[in-house]
Amino acid sequence: MTSTWAAPGRVNLIGEHVDYNDGLVLPFALPFVTRARVSTRSDDAVRVVSEDVGGVEFATAISPGEVEDWAAYVAGVVWSLQQRGATLPGLDIALSSNVPLGAGLSSSASLTCSVASAINDECSLGLDPRELADVSRVAENDFVGVPTGTMDQLASMLCESEHLLLLDCRSMETRSIPFAPAAANMTLLLIDSHARHSLVGSEYGDRRSDCEAAADDLGLESLRDATLEQVASLQDDRQRRRAHHVVSEIDRVQRVAAILDSGTPADIGAYLTASHESMRDDFEISCEELDVLVDAALDGGALGARMTGGGFGGCAVVLCRADDVESVTSRVESSYDAHGWQRPTIWTPQPAQGAHRLS
Ligand code: ADP
Ligand code: MG
Repeated sequence: MTSTWAAPGRVNLIGEHVDYNDGLVLPFALPFVTRARVSTRSDDAVRVVSEDVGGVEFATAISPGEVEDWAAYVAGVVWSLQQRGATLPGLDIALSSNVPLGAGLSSSASLTCSVASAINDECSLGLDPRELADVSRVAENDFVGVPTGTMDQLASMLCESEHLLLLDCRSMETRSIPFAPAAANMTLLLIDSHARHSLVGSEYGDRRSDCEAAADDLGLESLRDATLEQVASLQDDRQRRRAHHVVSEIDRVQRVAAILDSGTPADIGAYLTASHESMRDDFEISCEELDVLVDAALDGGALGARMTGGGFGGCAVVLCRADDVESVTSRVESSYDAHGWQRPTIWTPQPAQGAHRLS
């Protein structure tokens, strides 16, 4: 028998660097997926082939450190499932993906979630989508060694087409919110800036410790509980700006969710742009390319624009009227041309379905 599953990448509409502050995020699944085809073997080998990437073989009894590079994501899932008590046979795993790798669109979660879902199905493990998201997070955190929250994996598992997923990172409750800009004559552009600045590792840790220190100073469990008045009382200038981003960003997510609940997507534009300014000025995780891109999109008539993802490169999301797509994209392209940069890649993704069985 064979089980084939697809799991999507994701983009976060708003709510950046708030997951580890117990905040709220609002991602949706992209129409880009990793497909994983899994069948069992009679020995204890795991053979993985990823189209256009390569092939690797390891034993089911695998430990962190024994498999590296891209195959660590797959070995990590096999290991993580066993950590939960699953007994696994040997496996043949075939992968193919149309998620851009390393662009901040979570090709890694789409990979781990597709593999976890297909093994769960093929081996009748009986894990539910939330458990599979957790298996995938543990694989990425503890086997690959990337400190992510659980947004990417939950989004890849739980998102619904034409909806955003409002995820409360404290309670882990989720709620799907309808989001179909085209129905309101609007378009959401997803734009890859092509910038990939390599400081992300240490900067991420620095932001986390600044936020923890700010919460500590306020005597709070996390910044989720802080008010802007409390933030203003922080003595340390950098901590105060970091905390201001987090507290105002959580508020923006709530406002955007409320606006979309009442069905007027045009009104979220100002919050997207405010989010970008907060990341640029207070959280300091933007970069020149993303700032140029966002400014150009707004000059071209966009209703709102912001960088999305961890920062220092990756993608931006831009909301505009359908009639303004042309002027927005040509303004973005000409600003890139003026800097002599390779033009950005522009998509118009519709919110897609989370992990699902193909065959
Ligand atoms: P992102 O998740 O934003 O795309 P990451 O750095 O977290 O960026 O993950 C990208 C990495 O995930 C790739 O460098 C590669 O190691 C692995 N990966 C993702 N998709 C595949 C795939 N289809 N085949 C092999 N490796 C993949
Ligand atoms: Mg990733």
